[in-house]
Amino acid sequence: MKRRSRGMSPSTAGGQAPDTNGAIAGLLRDLAAVQTSRQSRWGYERAAEAIAALPAPIESFVRPDGSLRKIPNVGPSSTRVILEVLAAGASPTVQRAIAESGRASEVEKGRALRGTFLSRAEVLAALGSRRLKGVSLHDYRGDLQMHSTYSDGSQTLDDIVTTGIARGYAFSAVTDHSHGLAIARGVSMARLAKQHQEIDRLNRKHTRRFRIIKGIEANILADGTLDMTPAERRALELVVAAPHSALRSSADQTPRLLAAVRARGVHILGHPRGRKYGVRAGVRADWDRIFAAAARATVAIEIDGDPRRQDIDHELARRALEAGCLFALDSDAHATDEWVFAETAVAHARLAGIPAERVINCWPLEFLLKWAADRSGR
Ligand SMILES: [Zn+2]
Repeated sequence: MKRRSRGMSPSTAGGQAPDTNGAIAGLLRDLAAVQTSRQSRWGYERAAEAIAALPAPIESFVRPDGSLRKIPNVGPSSTRVILEVLAAGASPTVQRAIAESGRASEVEKGRALRGTFLSRAEVLAALGSRRLKGVSLHDYRGDLQMHSTYSDGSQTLDDIVTTGIARGYAFSAVTDHSHGLAIARGVSMARLAKQHQEIDRLNRKHTRRFRIIKGIEANILADGTLDMTPAERRALELVVAAPHSALRSSADQTPRLLAAVRARGVHILGHPRGRKYGVRAGVRADWDRIFAAAARATVAIEIDGDPRRQDIDHELARRALEAGCLFALDSDAHATDEWVFAETAVAHARLAGIPAERVINCWPLEFLLKWAADRSGR
């Protein structure tokens, strides 16, 4: 299928088979964007989400008689689009709807914001591919970006221990939003002290079985400083610094991110672009300069595995690898069923050819804690 020439979103990642699921999800998003009724827009969006989340290529859902097996949340009009694409590599229905809407340029803009996102089927293909070298799920010891009920997450610290142990992890960092980010119910220093008492209690209870690392997701302000003072940051074992503002700005923000990676006590540059699937491209910057500075400072570059983020993607990650960077592969989970997002991050890392030694989630706990303490100047 010549998807690129037809403008159907995602690229074929790292020479993998074409991502038909991603392409179809993109077309259904296009169709949603030109609907006049809210209900039909919602219907196509829900179908797009269902296709992007399928665990196998859509081709495997076709019955011998050419019809499509029932897929939850995918109705008859979405099914027609899918069958058109499978038959001809394009959907006349979608093309017609776009032409008739007179909103082709808007659709084009949406498409540009969906590049290099992997569908779930593509994630699983990358995880299972023998051709791809580098980090595998087997090497992965723990997640380093995660939110609890102390900020905008729904999981308690107990849930985090239970889920971590069930997944075979040795550790997990809890990185609630810092106090500067009110919109995400940023945690005050007083609440953080309470959280740390609870973590100490849990860590004592699960010694040598599972370790919660005391972390924070600090907010990178417009000038590159963080919303926590260096003294406040010293209360933490792990600081993820991430941008949450000016993510739609077209201005160059290299100085902002350079200041963040050079700030004392930062361990991870979290979701470096702040992009969102189909919504915004995120920060614009000279990434090679940022990666060089991060490599010099031994700050890990994050691949955030939230399917809507996938930030950074495998293409940028390859450049960070060449610059000599360390990486953190995280779920950014706000609920226990989102831990699986770490797999999306691992898939991007595999497509970028990142070896396990460069991934701090794959380091033995003692080594990781020692590195973190050195960086904090503790
Ligand atoms: Zn964040």
